Amino acid sequence: MAYKFIDKYREKGARKRLVELLMKKGIEDEHVLYAIGKVPRHYFFDETFWNQAYKDIAFPIGEGQTISQPYTVAYQSELLHVKRGDKVLEIGTGSGYQTCVLLELGADVYTIERQEKIYERTIQVLPYMGYKPHFYLGDGSRGIETHAPYDKIIVTAGAPTVPEVLLKQLKVGGLLVIPVGNEQEQKMVTILKVGENDYEKVVLDTFRFVPLVGDKAW
Ligand code: SAM
Repeated sequence: MAYKFIDKYREKGARKRLVELLMKKGIEDEHVLYAIGKVPRHYFFDETFWNQAYKDIAFPIGEGQTISQPYTVAYQSELLHVKRGDKVLEIGTGSGYQTCVLLELGADVYTIERQEKIYERTIQVLPYMGYKPHFYLGDGSRGIETHAPYDKIIVTAGAPTVPEVLLKQLKVGGLLVIPVGNEQEQKMVTILKVGENDYEKVVLDTFRFVPLVGDKAW
């Protein structure tokens, strides 16, 4: 895949229209909307498909995986309530688009991907774009113990249940955002850690993610 990094009026205009569409769909957080308006999503696509980059759709990135739909990225980002300097663990780096949005929100991002080919591509593309998270290759269903605890954890693949280990790796006051369900559809779930063994869970809208595959997942 040949990457090309040019951000012209056409792409900037398309990005602005995408932000307007997300507002119409109910995204309200101005920081999230600003971040979506900043990240050049077409950089994740081969130039042949640039006309698809600012449509509100998921798109194949190879290895049976997808770059998430902008609405889904905005929805999860809004739920995460990222504050500048928050230490955020992202499980399922994929293309790195969500990672860039989290970085634009001011998070210190630890991101993990299990598929080597996707990982190898993303660790090259993001720094080239100027985005510098901490990259890891491996099974994120176990979290990343060595850097815990985290202020926030976001899972960008569908889990059959909430992995207990992720709750353990949250700070008290920390928040987990994770899609949970079967392989066809999942409910977005937020879990706030209010005490060492005390959690508040909220179940929200239905989405369709690729499966979270791993030791504590499918
Ligand atoms: N948010 C990403 C984006 O914007 O491009 C898309 C993520 S994609 C929907 C889900 C990713 O999670 C895939 O790249 C998949 O390989 C990865 N994944 C699935 N199970 C995983 C696991 N146990 N640990 C780490 N990554 C995993």
